[in-house]
Amino acid sequence: MDNTLRVLKKVFGFSSFRKGQREIIETILSGKDVFAVMPTGGGKSICYQIPAILMGGVTLVISPLISLMKDQVDSIKDVGINAAFINSTIDKNKIIEIIEDSLIGKYKLIYISPERLEMEYFVKLIRSLNISQIAVDEAHCVSQWGHDFRKSYRFILPFVNSLAKRPVITAFTATATEEVRNDSVKLLGLINPYLHISSFNRDNLSINIHKEVDKLEFVKDVIRDREEESGIIYCSRRKDVDGLYSYLKERGYNVAKYHSGLKDEEKEAFQDDFLFDRKEIMIATNAFGMGIDKSNVRYVIHFSLPKNIENYYQEIGRGGRDGEKCDCHLLYSREDIPSMEYMINTSTLLNRREIELRKLQAMVDFCETQNCYRQFILNYFGEGTVKQYCNNCSNCLNSDELRDITVEAQKILSCLYRTKERYGISVIVDILRGFSGPKIIDNKLNELSTYGIMQEYSSKFIKDVIQTLIEEGYVDRKEGTYSMIRLNSKSINILKGKEKVMARLKDSVDDTVLDQELFKKLRILRRDLSQSEKVKPYIIFSDSTLIQIANLRPKSREELMNIRGVGEKKIEKYGDRVLRVVHNHTLIKSKVN
Ligand code: ADP
Ligand code: MG
Ligand code: ZN
Repeated sequence: MDNTLRVLKKVFGFSSFRKGQREIIETILSGKDVFAVMPTGGGKSICYQIPAILMGGVTLVISPLISLMKDQVDSIKDVGINAAFINSTIDKNKIIEIIEDSLIGKYKLIYISPERLEMEYFVKLIRSLNISQIAVDEAHCVSQWGHDFRKSYRFILPFVNSLAKRPVITAFTATATEEVRNDSVKLLGLINPYLHISSFNRDNLSINIHKEVDKLEFVKDVIRDREEESGIIYCSRRKDVDGLYSYLKERGYNVAKYHSGLKDEEKEAFQDDFLFDRKEIMIATNAFGMGIDKSNVRYVIHFSLPKNIENYYQEIGRGGRDGEKCDCHLLYSREDIPSMEYMINTSTLLNRREIELRKLQAMVDFCETQNCYRQFILNYFGEGTVKQYCNNCSNCLNSDELRDITVEAQKILSCLYRTKERYGISVIVDILRGFSGPKIIDNKLNELSTYGIMQEYSSKFIKDVIQTLIEEGYVDRKEGTYSMIRLNSKSINILKGKEKVMARLKDSVDDTVLDQELFKKLRILRRDLSQSEKVKPYIIFSDSTLIQIANLRPKSREELMNIRGVGEKKIEKYGDRVLRVVHNHTLIKSKVN
């Protein structure tokens, strides 16, 4: 048996390496730099710990989270390897003691926080050691294109350069897009490193997105279903954590909470309650979970929109560590987008805002995609696979049948053709729906043969079809514009009926009422109208039309026109009164708030 395997068994008690570990360890032992990307829970630690044990001298581990360092050191000490950590919680005398002890070979590993490298006296002390490896954990922190930029990571390279003998440098991360990867390799000064990238796929996580649902009801349904099973509920703000915690606690659920506003003792107590299964449900901000290795998390709910895909994937990655199934539910509401943007704009340094907003946009695109969610994530991390459908995400398992939308596509494409590709998407939609706004009349677009040929569809549906056509390459975006599209050779095939377009699209309107009060007022108006017009209420507006009006709160005739079931005639007859009800209601609401 070779040395590495013996250490794995004897020290760590594991019988075999996971994919990639052995190669990484052997490369390090041969003295070559390594850059390894492995998902959270993939087993990065032993990749630098086993070489640390087998090599002479000491391994410095640079790790960004002070709160984790003690745990990491405790757990390696627990398997009988002597290690120490140095961060702002350790005083100067103790540091000197640690250094002196290492000089006589007491420690195999010393964990340090990157900020230490900014301190001259510390750098001087540590330079006296025989350093055989520098392991950089969470290596993406060095890149400002990543999601966790840490300025002090930039001190690593100068530190390495100041050493009399260059040790082997190894870097580990769970999240790195190609851009971040290349940047990190450069900024850490890795020399021709061995690059290892594990597959990011975690088959046992089912990825589900639920749009515009009643979030509290949803959460209660899941936890009732999952009695006595562990789950994590992530919220983006502390106050949402507190609110949801009280709400569920009052209803008798066994909940714990965690965010950076709590006292250290509270955080620790709650965390332990959760880790030791005394409380099943953890409600937390993204401050919770770093380095947590609880194996039996059976569901992860995102109560609000995560800031980026990196965070999201890391957070759901805390589920199903034992390889058993874990259900991940993201509760997506478009209303969350502005508050997330606000958070980024107010809490991010100016030079990072654009990057963060770009990442948020990718997060929104992910939530909005009609295709396989897993595929989207894997592509995001640069992992293209042949398989199109995973059959373990809510898009793949969507009960909506894949439907043939060729006819709808043909109508849209011929409208593009008739208008000589001169108008933006919203005008195209207006023409197809037979809307007669000034732009339409002035340009005589109402005389086109395609005018009003999709009257029975909602604007949203037509826009969704157009989106599908763009995504599938059946039309192209006009260079440099966002809202203009043009025909290409694939469009011609559809127009000629040579190719079919398939998509999973919902034609139905959303029927959750967001504002009950307004809905009620609109029902009263409908009843009044029905009495004066002497027709049945549903002839005037169907329930689903009223729900849409209540949810969307149109402010003008044009916006009202965008609602399914509202045509020119209805606007003429009832438009003003509907708009007045909505307007007055909104006015009262804004005064109350
Ligand atoms: P990461 O840092 O990549 O998120 P860790 O290094 O904390 O992951 O490892 C996650 C878990 O996997 C730990 O409990 C660790 O002991 C376990 N582990 C690592 N390598 C193996 C292996 N070869 N066999 C079994 N368990 C392993
Ligand atoms: Mg780790
Ligand atoms: Zn899928």
